[in-house]
Amino acid sequence: MNNLRVWRSSPAAASRWTISHGNLILGAAIVLTVAHNAAFWGQLLRAYPLAAANLWFQASVAACLFAVTALLLSLFDTRPFLKPALVIVFLASSGAAYFMDTYGVVIDHDMLRNAAQTNTQEVRDLLNLRFAGYVLGLGVLPSLAILFAQVRWPGSFREGLVDRSRRVGILLGVLTVSILPLGRTWASFLREHKAVRQYANPGFLAYSAVKFGLAGSEGRKGPVRHIGEDARIPATDKDRELLILVIGESARADHFSLNGYGRETNPELSRLPVVSFTNMHANATSTAVAVPMMFSPLDPSEFSVRKAQGSENLLDVLRHAGVNVLWRDNNSDSKGVADRIPYEDFKTDLNPDTEGGEPRDVGMLAGLQAYIDSHPTGDIVIVLHQMGNHGPAYYKRYPPAFERFRPVRKTSELGECSPQEIANAYDNAILYTDHFLAETIRLLERNKDRFEAGLLYTSDHGESLGEKGVYLHGMPPFMAPDEQKHVASVFWFADSFEIDTNRFRRARDLPLSHANLFHTVLGLLEIESQVYDPRKDIARLIDPSSPALAHKTN
Ligand SMILES: [Zn+2]
Repeated sequence: MNNLRVWRSSPAAASRWTISHGNLILGAAIVLTVAHNAAFWGQLLRAYPLAAANLWFQASVAACLFAVTALLLSLFDTRPFLKPALVIVFLASSGAAYFMDTYGVVIDHDMLRNAAQTNTQEVRDLLNLRFAGYVLGLGVLPSLAILFAQVRWPGSFREGLVDRSRRVGILLGVLTVSILPLGRTWASFLREHKAVRQYANPGFLAYSAVKFGLAGSEGRKGPVRHIGEDARIPATDKDRELLILVIGESARADHFSLNGYGRETNPELSRLPVVSFTNMHANATSTAVAVPMMFSPLDPSEFSVRKAQGSENLLDVLRHAGVNVLWRDNNSDSKGVADRIPYEDFKTDLNPDTEGGEPRDVGMLAGLQAYIDSHPTGDIVIVLHQMGNHGPAYYKRYPPAFERFRPVRKTSELGECSPQEIANAYDNAILYTDHFLAETIRLLERNKDRFEAGLLYTSDHGESLGEKGVYLHGMPPFMAPDEQKHVASVFWFADSFEIDTNRFRRARDLPLSHANLFHTVLGLLEIESQVYDPRKDIARLIDPSSPALAHKTN
């Protein structure tokens, strides 16, 4: 009776519920396995459809997912850590579940790197009611339940040890019993359906976070490695080159009418003497990886962002050769590529073409003539990093005059849009890139008497627009669909260029990748250096024996 009175006198205690630490872990694991893994179950059912023959295996996968999750949570099974750890897990995992369920994306360490480098505007585009619903329902509510729980802890160290050992032992037993009898099915599942396990939540998220953390802590150790310090422009090259490199965003090759797309998405470029490469592929599917890769001499097989950050890149080689280099950015940033060269952020007041808070890519051309005029000697290379087709709010990426494909639903909840509405907004943004590139070419045209002027445009990666339920980009390259890797790429050269542009024309259908860009730029600028590999220069892929340039001798 006495106890009851105490209990009643404390409203906070009255609202609490009691649970043992072990059951809290097991309960949390059940909720995570069931409610946070819609994408995982969807993928599993795609690989192993509902049928009597698959039931045992599906049950075995469910038991394993639960056991692995419970074992992971058991790592935090101490009084000070359990509640905070569970709250962090539920909040993070609810966000991951939203992105996996909604966009079919996988949260790997590159995706986390992307997220860490995302700017506030990109975040605003991604947040919506559905996201809030996920975080509230799957994250905040369970967290509140956990915070209010009165957790029973073992009375003594010995009791705790026995209790924890017994639970871990049982969970390991569950794993063994579920896997062993179906060993062969498991082996083929892990081999043939690598993608499915990447949707396991929060297990894969935890793995990615650790991998991302380790990569970050290795950081930029020591000084940056110099490359191409021998770069020089031979005395025979008397003409000045002016190259503009446009780094596109999320533009897929098959939505360019230059490549045969059924809709007229390149009305302006198609009237200009451009070369569109129909078979250009990115070796990465996220901005944070693809952009450093485009400027790196490393082969894609040995590339890592850490290595790229620890080394100079194409722009440094140009600098060593005495080229004037400038980076203008209307995307997130240069991903470290422009760390040692002049950099201008065009998501600021610097951009005169800002509409409803959206800085337009065309704004990056403002004052560019003045920059060119203020450099009376040497070659000039200008990089323009576009906002392009950044999703999911494609409808924000173009001025109203470019809304030629209708209807467009003005929401970033792609799940609410019909495939046609998504394609319409996406294609309108391509139309605007078409215009931006044509404007850039017109600027170069005006300088062609003083310069050998050229434009090299390549998108950083492609984009999924709902094919097989996948949206956006950022899938690990080995499992990414072609839509995320097959990118738009268009070159243009003024007739003042001494190069035989037919060489590019003839290479237009060859299989090319971002790895070709490094050497193609060096070749165009006629830069001599140990780091230049003519075998990867697009101008030399066809008929490599003859010199690409009229006056070049080697
Ligand atoms: Zn990108």
